Amino acid sequence: MKIAILSRGPNLYSTRRLKEAGEAKGHQVDIIDTLHCYMDITSSRPTVRYHGEELPRYDAIIPRIGSSITFYGTAVARQFEMMGTFNVNDSLAISRSRDKLRSLQLLSRKGIGMPRTGFASKPDNIKDLIKNVGGAPVVIKLLEGTQGIGVVLADTTKAAEAIIEAFMGLKANILVQEFIKEAGGADIRCLVVGGKIVAAMKRQGAEGEFRSNLHRGGSAEIVKLTQEEQDTAINAAKAMGLNFCGVDLLRSQNGPMVMEVNSSPGLEGIETATGKDVAGMVFDFIEQNVDLPRDQ
Ligand code: ADP
Ligand code: GLU
Repeated sequence: MKIAILSRGPNLYSTRRLKEAGEAKGHQVDIIDTLHCYMDITSSRPTVRYHGEELPRYDAIIPRIGSSITFYGTAVARQFEMMGTFNVNDSLAISRSRDKLRSLQLLSRKGIGMPRTGFASKPDNIKDLIKNVGGAPVVIKLLEGTQGIGVVLADTTKAAEAIIEAFMGLKANILVQEFIKEAGGADIRCLVVGGKIVAAMKRQGAEGEFRSNLHRGGSAEIVKLTQEEQDTAINAAKAMGLNFCGVDLLRSQNGPMVMEVNSSPGLEGIETATGKDVAGMVFDFIEQNVDLPRDQ
């Protein structure tokens, strides 16, 4: 098959591994720089142009769209969808996953466990917002943050009020969330491909850090998931409509709670921690889902 990876970073671990894994299975795999794609959206025959030429027809694309280019990146992915190319993660599902609030609303509608969460833009009663999620300590998050940046733990109501007021002053949209203390600065990253969990790791934050992001100095180890955790991760991926994603869970006394669903999950941490060929499994999924004409 002819498969394109939409990625701005040909040298990133995940992009390189996907290309390698696809080629090992006998596919032609091209890395296409998403921002260099351009297209005529009015044409009755949709195409994508790249470096002055029309791109060939691909059987499938694997979108690796960074959060800073979600708007343009999903438009490019949508153009491929219009051409009838199989897209591993639907452009609409990627857009949804980029908005923490929208994601949590979708997950909550499906009854998936998550920390008690309040959302505010200009609350006229900050005390009530805090009280409503169970009172301090609370976690306050910037709606647009990634890699743990803009995620703050407020131990007291006073601190929470001050932080919320500061974010408000910057006109930022925020989430206020119940702090899941018993997670102990750890979370669980489940890699879901085609509705199955193909790998899982436990990430532990650095000493004294409640955020477990590997970018923040956390460490990763292999973990065995309970049935409830597996079901939660699979249901979360399904609710978001993502075929290839990372679901982050916290272990709480009330069962697994979903923090977020990532539509461009990094492969380095998970493949290193588990020794699994996650990239290869993405191609297995593509092979199962693309119908090739008989003469190919
Ligand atoms: P980002 O998308 O920036 O990674 P997250 O919402 O995933 O932000 O938060 C980063 C990390 O902080 C999580 O992986 C988790 O370890 C910790 N964390 C976030 N929210 C909570 C919470 N409500 N209770 C306990 N720990 C949390
Ligand atoms: N972008 C990475 C991922 O989603 C973040 C991993 C991390 O910092 O823990 O896999």
